[in-house]
Amino acid sequence: MSDHGMTIGGESVDAKETFDVLNPATGEVYAQVPDASVEQLDAAFDAAQQAYKTWRRDEAARRQALHAAGDLLMAKAGELAPILTSEQGKPLQEAMIEIVGSGVWLKHFADLQMPREVLQDDDNAFVEVVRRPMGVVAAITPWNFPWLLACWKIAPALLAGNTMVLKPSPYTPVTTLAAGRLLQEVLPAGVLNVVSGRDPLGAHMTSHPVPRKISFTGSVATGKRVAAAAADDLKRVTLELGGNDPAIVLDDADIAKVAPKLYGSAFQNNGQICSAIKRVYVPEALHDDLVDAIADIARSAKVGNGLEEGVQLGPLNNRPQLERVSELVSDAVSRGARAVTGGKAVDGPGYFHEPTILAGVEDGFRIVDEEQFGPALPIVKYRSVDEAIERANGTLFGLGGSVWGGDAERAAAVADELDCGSVWVNTHLAIGPGQPFGGFKWSGVGTENGHWGVEGFTEVQVRHQAKG
Ligand code: NAD
Repeated sequence: MSDHGMTIGGESVDAKETFDVLNPATGEVYAQVPDASVEQLDAAFDAAQQAYKTWRRDEAARRQALHAAGDLLMAKAGELAPILTSEQGKPLQEAMIEIVGSGVWLKHFADLQMPREVLQDDDNAFVEVVRRPMGVVAAITPWNFPWLLACWKIAPALLAGNTMVLKPSPYTPVTTLAAGRLLQEVLPAGVLNVVSGRDPLGAHMTSHPVPRKISFTGSVATGKRVAAAAADDLKRVTLELGGNDPAIVLDDADIAKVAPKLYGSAFQNNGQICSAIKRVYVPEALHDDLVDAIADIARSAKVGNGLEEGVQLGPLNNRPQLERVSELVSDAVSRGARAVTGGKAVDGPGYFHEPTILAGVEDGFRIVDEEQFGPALPIVKYRSVDEAIERANGTLFGLGGSVWGGDAERAAAVADELDCGSVWVNTHLAIGPGQPFGGFKWSGVGTENGHWGVEGFTEVQVRHQAKG
């Protein structure tokens, strides 16, 4: 048995074929993991279907198991975090936060009230609306927060009584495989199955007859394919897709105070966050001060292998992503933008890109209109607040957005104008297990987290009991 077994029906299993997972800090092979066959995918769905029969019945047991799973993840964070850094690239400290956070998520849902409503209780009838599990869920995750985003699905789905087959991104399967095996200590066999593989494994999952629900996080392009596949047999879908979050800085903002927060919300995880700040709109009069303040912070960031002490920015996760960020930065510069700091990929092994602040950027440049998903932040001037709102909303994305200003009420009024699932005032990326998270427009379909997230893994059922 390899160190990277998949989990099917509570057992750790290898596959005939394997594929390489690279360490993005070195470009070298970090692990060889199973490339699941279609028969193994069938076995995983079959195990989930068998487990569903009993798992759906005992809510108290499910809550206990989720608590135990959360505790276990927190206890083992020191072992899992270096694995996450080695395959994803993020600094060890951020990897620790991701693993501990996943435990927090599981424990939050372990205690969450299931939605239930009594519509009528009189001499004639007792009428109650409850939520029922859907059955087997197919969960598909991306490479930026491989394990936390898996737990955004595992926690509400399992609480509601569903069972799951989970497939991590082929760029970052190792942490999910390890955590999946670990959780077998506290979950009945077949409740959580983890398969790894190169695509088209994901497409096999979405067209498979067993799952009743697909919970997907990833790019818009793939999300559309998932929705089309699900339509075929009316599987339920939740899609958490890309973002191009705007931050609007108002003219009464304190630049010295705001700049580090804007930087943090744009460059955390090297900008590889769906709802990171992807473009900043600033009044002409504040533009130069803001550019200088953010560039100073970016210039001093320590870039390197995330396993090394003190590193703040790791590599991009993979070569195509590095090439994409470089391409968008070069495109902006070729059209007249100025890289105040950074501006290019770093020579040498690994997928590193200099933290980059771009000034003199205009709407219509690709780095403003598209999702860069990397360490490059365009700063764009505006003349009036109405114009800034219109430009912020002038995109097919609608995940998050923020407004920054000295007068919080005025900033909140501007935030109310933004067409996106999360709006923040004087902060960005404030996300928690009890808050809904989802996107308008092409940023997604459905909502994760909180009771909204649980509802997404259930069907509505009304029970009408006649009396008398
Ligand atoms: P991706 O779409 O390339 O891949 C996501 C997952 O889908 C992977 O597991 C992949 O193997 C699988 N997949 C590929 N083709 C498939 C198919 N035809 N059917 C089913 N599954 C298939 O995305 P990525 O590059 O891994 O992730 C980056 C993207 O994810 C960015 O756009 C980012 O904004 C988005 N994202 C969104 C959120 C959110 O919550 N809204 C969170 C994180 C990342």
